[in-house]
Amino acid sequence: MLVDSHCHLDLLVNKTNDSLSDIITRANKNGVNYMQTICTKLDDFPNILKIAEEFEAVYASVGVHPTDAIDTLSYLDLIKLSEHVKVIGLGETGLDYYHDSTRKKQQKHSFLQHIIASQSNALPVIVHTREAEEDTIDIITTEMRNSPFPGLIHCFTASKHLAQKMLDLGMYISISGIITFKNADHLREIVKFLPLDRLLIETDSPYLAPVPMRSSVNEPSFVEFVATAIADLKNISKMELAQQTTDNFFKLFNKAQEARKFKSSPVLSDVLNNMISKDF
Ligand SMILES: [Zn+2]
Repeated sequence: MLVDSHCHLDLLVNKTNDSLSDIITRANKNGVNYMQTICTKLDDFPNILKIAEEFEAVYASVGVHPTDAIDTLSYLDLIKLSEHVKVIGLGETGLDYYHDSTRKKQQKHSFLQHIIASQSNALPVIVHTREAEEDTIDIITTEMRNSPFPGLIHCFTASKHLAQKMLDLGMYISISGIITFKNADHLREIVKFLPLDRLLIETDSPYLAPVPMRSSVNEPSFVEFVATAIADLKNISKMELAQQTTDNFFKLFNKAQEARKFKSSPVLSDVLNNMISKDF
């Protein structure tokens, strides 16, 4: 069994003629039994939650991407929205000075709200970091000292230095299809050194389709190419890599165990309606 720990199903459906049901069935047939669809804006959250309610294989996160960071975000909203049984993570959040270096203050504020929410409800923080290594390390280290929280660096492309710091703080690291790219030797060297019991895999679909699917729209079933690439680097079987990364996913996102028993019900849709009637 494989888990795609990070995809954007709401964005994926806009890029293909296939239905979500087709996409998820294809993933299941390829052994990808679970996936987490990631929120990047609170406006999108009701739609994301609807997808997670409809499909047993889909978990969701709630959060605001650093490039969409807003001053008014409060950890209280994140805590409230993550009460839903299928919401298992906080993010994606973090710092992205590559795409937006003019609003560092808003990004840091938003990142901190996700961390405070996690310090309160123990859901993992899903961290995106790009060209912001020192601030990412500073914020996570300081807040871990205040009160430890679970988390991961998603779509890892940073330095070995950052990886080591994060591992020391108990964080996990998620690898995307970038690992299959021709120019990713630096990342492959780092992955060789990462401990197996801290690794997760993801597609970040619809972005970053792995080799050999570069000309297609990326979808959760393609996470198997990420698994194969890492298994080769680690000199282990794909089966072993699949088992370990699946175990790691359910260990880190442990609320997913509870959500596994969830079946769509009208009662939960009422919860959803109450949540979205609130203004942010
Ligand atoms: Zn993403």
